[in-house]
Amino acid sequence: MEAFIYSDASHRLQLMEWEQAYPSLAAGFTLRSGGQSKAPYASNNFGLHVGDEPADVIANRRTLCEQIGMSFKMFTCANQVHGNEVVQVTATRGGAGSTDSVETIGDVDGMHTNEAGVLLASFYADCVPLYFLDPQTRAIGLAHAGWKGTVARISAKMLNAMQQAYGSEVDDIRVAIGPSIGGCCYEVDERIIEQVRHASPQWQRSVTAVGNGKYMLDLRTLNELIVIESGVLPKHIVRTNWCTSCRTDLFFSHRKEAGKTGRMASYIGWK
Ligand SMILES: [Zn+2]
Repeated sequence: MEAFIYSDASHRLQLMEWEQAYPSLAAGFTLRSGGQSKAPYASNNFGLHVGDEPADVIANRRTLCEQIGMSFKMFTCANQVHGNEVVQVTATRGGAGSTDSVETIGDVDGMHTNEAGVLLASFYADCVPLYFLDPQTRAIGLAHAGWKGTVARISAKMLNAMQQAYGSEVDDIRVAIGPSIGGCCYEVDERIIEQVRHASPQWQRSVTAVGNGKYMLDLRTLNELIVIESGVLPKHIVRTNWCTSCRTDLFFSHRKEAGKTGRMASYIGWK
């Protein structure tokens, strides 16, 4: 069943099952429509690092915060580097990176917190957004997983960090795997598959050979395998079927649009 639901005209997908189970939680993924940015970032671009007009990006971020009922002052983001580091965000650092791409929380691809009011956000045009939630400790996390972060097992690092920082039990932790380029569209070569083979003992379930040294790679499945191997219960995982490359009417796609495009935002926070 699709976990990310287009439910109204607010130009975002809601992680409906989590928002309904925990009414003070905001969690979802924005769409490319409904913002102020001009081409080639039209129109709901959340990335300040891609060459767009900063005032338009900030306006788009503010609009999202108003829609979900959270303060733009606590819109917190990192400088994503396709690594596997994750960092704890306390309220005193909340809002880092909201209005510029220098004063972010750091050069990391994962953030976690258990403090109300802190809105974690990260940015996408094909990579996989991973959401984490422990209802017992109220720990939440967000990780940006392209192929590099996936094979570097950023998902496992996030699960470890939540256990260490908040005393979370791994079998309490929920994981949501969000909109990204799908196995339908993500063709890669041997150079990447060589690293995929080390990411999970079951890596073959995420790869289909298509000949001439090319493969279709399903990063969502690979991340799902890694979090299950790390102790997350399969019943606690929800995932999407939205492919950012198939649906450029809804999503920015770095690969489909040859690099010059905007970024959607994933977000999670306790109101
Ligand atoms: Zn596709």
